[in-house]
Amino acid sequence: MKTKRCPSCDGRIRIYYDHEPGDEVYCEDCQKEFQLMSLNPVILDSFDYDEELYFEEEEEY
Ligand SMILES: [Zn+2]
Repeated sequence: MKTKRCPSCDGRIRIYYDHEPGDEVYCEDCQKEFQLMSLNPVILDSFDYDEELYFEEEEEY
């Protein structure tokens, strides 16, 4: 599993390895919805931000 930092609240967005591009993922803290664009590397797109977002990536084992 990978996690990304939510750009709006700095919470965790969990990305599981069985997710596929096009899936929707959610921030655990603010429940914001993101669309998974790519798994390797993980690229997320926000539905309500126009500007490009910076997601800090963390690996978890
Ligand atoms: Zn959030």
